[in-house]
Amino acid sequence: MALDSKVPKGPIKDKWTDYKNHINLVNPANKRHIDVIVVGTGLAGGSASATLAELGYNVKSFAYQDSPRRAHSIAAQGGINAAKNYQGDGDSTYRLFYDTVKGGDYRSREANVYRLAEVSANIIDQCVAQGVPFARDYGGLLDNRSFGGVLVSRTFYAKGQTGQQLLLGAYSAMNRQIARGKIEMFNRHEMLDVVVVDGKARGIIARNLVTGEIERHSAHSVVIASGGYGNVYFLSTNAMGSNVTAGWKVHKKGAYFANPCYTQIHPTCIPRSGDYQSKLTLMSESLRNDGRIWVPKNLDDVKAIREGSKKPTELTEDQRDYYLERRYPAFGNLVPRDVASRAAKERCDAGYGVNATGEAVYLDFAASFERYGKEQAKIQNISNPSEAKIKELGQEIVKAKYGNLFQMYEKIVDENPYETPMMIYPAVHYTMGGVWVDYNLMTTIPGCYAIGEANFSDHGANRLGASALMQGLADGYFVLPYTIGDYLSDDIRTGEISTESSEFEAAEKEVTERIEFFINNEGTHSVDYYHKKLGKIMWDKCGMSRNAEGLEIAIEEISALRKDFWQNVNVPGTSSEYNEQLAKAGRVADFLELGELFAKDALIREESAGGHFREEHQTEDGEAKRIKEFQFVSAWEYKGEPKDAVLHKEELAYENIEVKERSYK
Ligand SMILES: Cc1cc2nc3c(=O)[nH]c(=O)nc-3n(C[C@H](O)[C@H](O)[C@H](O)COP(=O)(O)OP(=O)(O)OC[C@H]3O[C@@H](n4cnc5c(N)ncnc54)[C@H](O)[C@@H]3O)c2cc1C
Repeated sequence: MALDSKVPKGPIKDKWTDYKNHINLVNPANKRHIDVIVVGTGLAGGSASATLAELGYNVKSFAYQDSPRRAHSIAAQGGINAAKNYQGDGDSTYRLFYDTVKGGDYRSREANVYRLAEVSANIIDQCVAQGVPFARDYGGLLDNRSFGGVLVSRTFYAKGQTGQQLLLGAYSAMNRQIARGKIEMFNRHEMLDVVVVDGKARGIIARNLVTGEIERHSAHSVVIASGGYGNVYFLSTNAMGSNVTAGWKVHKKGAYFANPCYTQIHPTCIPRSGDYQSKLTLMSESLRNDGRIWVPKNLDDVKAIREGSKKPTELTEDQRDYYLERRYPAFGNLVPRDVASRAAKERCDAGYGVNATGEAVYLDFAASFERYGKEQAKIQNISNPSEAKIKELGQEIVKAKYGNLFQMYEKIVDENPYETPMMIYPAVHYTMGGVWVDYNLMTTIPGCYAIGEANFSDHGANRLGASALMQGLADGYFVLPYTIGDYLSDDIRTGEISTESSEFEAAEKEVTERIEFFINNEGTHSVDYYHKKLGKIMWDKCGMSRNAEGLEIAIEEISALRKDFWQNVNVPGTSSEYNEQLAKAGRVADFLELGELFAKDALIREESAGGHFREEHQTEDGEAKRIKEFQFVSAWEYKGEPKDAVLHKEELAYENIEVKERSYK
C-alpha cells in the first residue's frame, strides 16, 4: 500500500489556513445525525470529545479508568509549550517549528509540526479561558520557563502539576457536554477491538470492566486517543495502566504502525533500586532550569562515594565534571532529552555512575540556592547575609517552583534533595512511534483517527519537553475537529450504524473467545511474570543501545516468550467481575506482539537516532569486538566538528527540509 500523507500543497506557513478554507464542512443540523466514538479521555481524547460535542456531533467517550480525570495525562509535571513570545526573547511560530523538527532528529513530518506550532498559542488562550491556573509572574502575567533543546522560555506551567490542571480544564469542558447529553461517557470500559464495515471504521467492541459484559458500540467514525505504550518495557514513568491495546487492535485491522522503535528515554528519573520494582518515577525536566548535572572527575571519588566514605557535597568545583555544560556550552544542562540521556549513559558506562549500581548521575541545586538567595537578600535589604541565610532564602524560591517534586524525591529515595544532590538516571518515558496518520490525523483505515501520544506524527525520533501536552491539546481542540468534518461530510445521509452486522458479530466473537481462553487456561505463571521478562528483553536489547545481533536474539526471545505465554499464563478469577489480572492479560498479550515489531523496526534501521545508540559488532582477527557508533544523524553530534560549524550545518539542513518538504512516510 502506498502511503499518502495528504499534506496540502503550497508554502508551509500557508498550508493549514488554505486547507481549512477549502475542506468540506458539515452543517450544524447535520452534525446532530453523526456519531463519533473517542477512545481515551486524556488531554487528546478529552479535548477532542469536548470540542466535537460542542460542535454538535454525538460523542461516545471511553476510558478504562473510573473517571476521565484519571487519564495518564494527569501525571504530566513540567509544562506545555506555546509560541507566545511573552518573554520577548525571540520566540516565534517558526522557532517552535524549527526546534521541534531539529529536536526530533529531522524525522517528523514538517507540515504537521508547523501546524502544531501555529495553533500552540490558541491552546494557552483556551486553557486560560477554562480557568487553568498557569503560574504567573510578579506582575500577574503568565510566567514561562525553559525546557531542553531550546534557547527561549516558552513553557507555560502550573507548578509541577501542569497535566493535572490542563486535564481538569478538558474534563470540565467534557462535563458540560455530558450534562447536555452530547457526550455519553463510558468509564471503566476497555476497547478490545475496532469494527470495520465496508472498509470503514464503524464501531468498537468494548468490555465493561466492572461487570465483564462485552458491548457493541457503533459510530460513523472512531478516534483512538489511547496514549503511549512505554510500558512494553515493564518499567517506565508511564501510569501502570498505560498500554498499546487500542492502537494495536486498529493496527491488526489494517492501520499502519509507524516508527514503533522510537522511544524517549528521559534523562531525569529516579534510578532503579532493585529487581522487584514495578514503576519508575520522573523528576520533571523543568528541574534542569535550575539543577546542574555532574559526576565526579576522578574515579577515586566515585569509588569513595559509592562506598559511603565521601559525600558529594564534599567535592570541590574542580573535582566535578559538569559534562553537559562542558560538551554543549550553548545549551548546557538544557540540551534535548535524547542528548542528555545518551551523555548520562556514556558517563555511567565509563564507570562514573555515583550509586551502588553505577547507574546514576547528580542533579545539583546548590548553585541555584546561592544565586536565588543572593538575589532575595538584595530584594529584602538584608546586608551581609550569612551563607546559611543565603541558602535558606534560595531554597524558598526553589521550593516555590518545584516543591512537590522535591517532596516526591525525598519520599521515594529517603534523602533530602535540599541538602544533597538528587540522583537521576535515564528511563523509558514516551513513545514517539504509534499508529501512522496522514495530515488529517486519519489512519490507513478510513474513518479511524489517531491523536495524541497514540499517533506517530509530530516528534520524529525524539520529543522535546513540554510538547506532548501541546500536541495532545492541538490535536483535540484545534486539528481533529476540522479534519474529521471533511470525512464526515460524506456521512450526513448514512443514518445510524447498525451493530447487528456480521462484522460486529465476528469482532465480538473473537474478543469473547480470547477472554474465555485466559480464564480457562490453567497455566502456571502470572501475567506479570511474562510482562517482566518482556521488559527485560526490551531494555537489554532494544533499549538505549542496540545492535543487530542483540535485536535478532530479542526477536527470537520475544517470539518464544509469546508462545510460552499462550500456553502457560494463569489468570485468576472470573470474566464477569472486576478482574484487573484479566484486563492486564489482554494488554500484555498485545505488548508481546508489539515488542517483536519494535525489535524488527530497530533492526532494519541501521542508524543511531533520538535516544538510541546503534552499536555494531565487528570481527577483527576472529575476535568479536564491540564498537560504538557515535555518528548520529542528529545535528547535535557531528563528530569532531566545532559547534559553530554544526550550527551552520543545521541551518543548511533545515533549509533543505523546507524546500524539499520531506514527508516521513
Ligand atoms: C510522569 C510524566 C510526566 C510528563 N510530563 C509532561 C510534561 O510536563 N509536558 C508534556 O508535554 N508532556 C509530559 N508528559 C507526556 C504526556 O503526559 C503524555 O504524552 C500525554 O499526557 C498523553 O496524553 P494522551 O491524551 O495522548 O493519552 P493519556 O493521557 O495516556 O490518555 C489515554 C486515555 O486512553 C484511555 N484508554 C487507553 N486504552 C484504552 C482502551 N483500550 N479502551 C478504553 N480506553 C482506553 C485511558 O483510559 C485514558 O483515558 C509526561 C509523561 C509522564 C509519564
